Amino acid sequence: MILGVLGGGQLGRMLALAGYPLGMRFRFFDPADEVCVDDIAPRVRAAYEDVDALAQFADGVDVVTYEFENVPVDAVRALEARGARLLPPLVALDVSQDRLTEKQFLNGLGIATAPFAAVDSAEGLRSAVATLGLPAILKTRRMGYDGKGQAVLRSDADAEAAIAAFDGTPSILEGVVPFARELSVIAVRGLDGAVVCYPLVQNWHHDGILRVSRTPSPVVNALMQADAEYAARRVLEALDYVGVLTIEWFEHEGRLVANEIAPRVHNSGHWTIEGAATSQFENHLRAVTGLPLGLPQALGVWAMVNLVGTPPPLETLASLSGAHVHMYGKAPRTSRKVGHVTLCAVDEGYLDARLAELLHVVGIETGNTARA
Ligand code: AMP
Repeated sequence: MILGVLGGGQLGRMLALAGYPLGMRFRFFDPADEVCVDDIAPRVRAAYEDVDALAQFADGVDVVTYEFENVPVDAVRALEARGARLLPPLVALDVSQDRLTEKQFLNGLGIATAPFAAVDSAEGLRSAVATLGLPAILKTRRMGYDGKGQAVLRSDADAEAAIAAFDGTPSILEGVVPFARELSVIAVRGLDGAVVCYPLVQNWHHDGILRVSRTPSPVVNALMQADAEYAARRVLEALDYVGVLTIEWFEHEGRLVANEIAPRVHNSGHWTIEGAATSQFENHLRAVTGLPLGLPQALGVWAMVNLVGTPPPLETLASLSGAHVHMYGKAPRTSRKVGHVTLCAVDEGYLDARLAELLHVVGIETGNTARA
């Protein structure tokens, strides 16, 4: 079984590492000079517009999947025209690549989101600010991730400056949700329609970048887990989805408000490599190759901390009790995720202590990542 993967970043690398024990083989496609998969799998290095390179990539591959949601849709169409099978399906990319269609899709399924308005002009931004009020967040409709392409408008002066500077990029204005916590649910749907969901994860961001995840999320009750799973099921079924899909949530006044969908394996699910009966990566591969899905249960309590920028020495990380260290083979750069550390513990108290130590080593001093 040979899997073709569009994108050769760390998510692709972890997919391959999960697939090798199952006897799977991988071929990647990525235009960048150096990518995380280069030392573990063959890669076609070419532009997504290069139809011949796409054909070479797809030749002999059983199924094509992807590890980032901004895959150019035309490249997928070119692959499908050559008879390649893409899973998750193209419609999932179509919906999730555009923040406007994504929110309309979620609302259409009865899933709450932040209030929003489409913005295409300076005048449109002025009336969106008048309708939604401040604070609000102006986001480009496309190509935004890790907080990129976003501006928070807190004051009238911010709004006036954004209106004056607006360059016509199709955008949306979102009301700020004064959330109590951020959570995510990772769900998987198999080729036969079977669905499994991982326990809700609690996430802490800094400057729009995920820094820490914990699971089982402290103080999540069974009803909230059930709500998240019910919503995930509706999304998966509406898209006739196959593979792993993540929904990011805000918890506000005891209810879940959807932030966004990621039609792929997700950073908040890295703990599943060591922490769940079956990892999100293995379950994605099982789904897209038609295998039965594995159990999603958490084994113990877990925290995951991203290594962003220049990481501490490997020796220091490896000396932490219960730490599983993952380095992605990337050169350190500001705001770049270069690895992560997953901590395992038998109970919450022990996890709190280990996590405090890890956060100190990594240099994250702020943010209440404890249980309450
Ligand atoms: P995004 O790229 O849309 O996932 O946004 C990155 C992060 O910005 C989120 O994880 C939140 O911490 C914050 N954020 C984005 N949109 C909102 C919103 N409407 N209300 C409050 N916080 C937000």
